[in-house]
Amino acid sequence: MKKVSVIVSVYNEQEILNAFFDRMIDVLENIGAPYELLFVNDGSSDRSDSLLKSFAALDPRVKVIRFSRNFGHEAAMLAGIDYASGDYLVCIDADLEKPPETIPRILEAMERGADVVVTRCTENPCRSPAKRACSRLFYKFLNRLSAMRFQEGASDFFGITRRVADLMRNSYREQGRYLRGFIQQVGFSRACVPYRSPGRFAGKSKYSFARLCALALQACISFSHTPLHLGFAAGGGALLAGLCCAASAVFGRAPGWIPWACFFCFLFSIQIFLLGIIGEYIGDIQREEKRRPLYIVQETRNLETVSAGREEEIPHACVGF
Ligand code: UDP
Ligand code: MG
Repeated sequence: MKKVSVIVSVYNEQEILNAFFDRMIDVLENIGAPYELLFVNDGSSDRSDSLLKSFAALDPRVKVIRFSRNFGHEAAMLAGIDYASGDYLVCIDADLEKPPETIPRILEAMERGADVVVTRCTENPCRSPAKRACSRLFYKFLNRLSAMRFQEGASDFFGITRRVADLMRNSYREQGRYLRGFIQQVGFSRACVPYRSPGRFAGKSKYSFARLCALALQACISFSHTPLHLGFAAGGGALLAGLCCAASAVFGRAPGWIPWACFFCFLFSIQIFLLGIIGEYIGDIQREEKRRPLYIVQETRNLETVSAGREEEIPHACVGF
């Protein structure tokens, strides 16, 4: 089999890293292919950094990229993709919520010809029914909104081949990212591997409800312009409501100003809502225009030879050492 790169984003996961490392090495040793294990430390403030360095000291195939601060999970995965040297890349979380034992099935799917392998969680006892329902609803909404068809329940546990990784590295350098959407947008052949999750091994999720909402909003902005067209529908609706109000003011028994007051409230709320949507898109354009680095690397381990001079080739990435 070709060379495998496993990319792990890490943010304050000190309780988990030892268990994760042991299980991951077991899996990688059994796949019978050359491999590298690439940890991206996304600005952890706990002992994660020293643990990762101790892993790297054990084996040169274990590589570490340390960011100068927390840039977010998506940036961490992208940095891993930028630096990985394998032919098959797999992104996985460090919390053992996505079992490393699923990786051989992802690699098999790539060996059979898939360029993008998404995974779908069929069971996770630790996810509340409300979170599961929100996720299902979100994918249904996104699929209606966008011309793309996204795998429902897809997560940041996926496999991509070198050609998709090169596309991410060279052409998908947006500030507002939705990586699991990007990999599904490139086309080629796609496979889906189901897995059962035992839930997070220890520690707490770093994704608050607000952060999940921000990611969902980013996905909608990245993959659809439909919200911008809402103005037409809203304008038509407001006109109709205005006519109804006028009719009730003329023929109704309520004081004449009440329907009008309701109508103006309705009209203003629509306008403000639409302004909010337009503002989100303008904000997105402004972020892109600034072209700030997507992440800043403070330090690397076992990547010295790759890092020399290579960052210049990585669009919108920055090395601060
Ligand atoms: N993570 C990261 N940067 C962040 C937040 C999370 O690198 O800003 C990592 C985290 O350490 C974990 C993975 O991303 O390995 C998924 O995060 P988490 O388990 O908190 O998310 P959830 O599974 O609850 O959606
Ligand atoms: Mg998790």
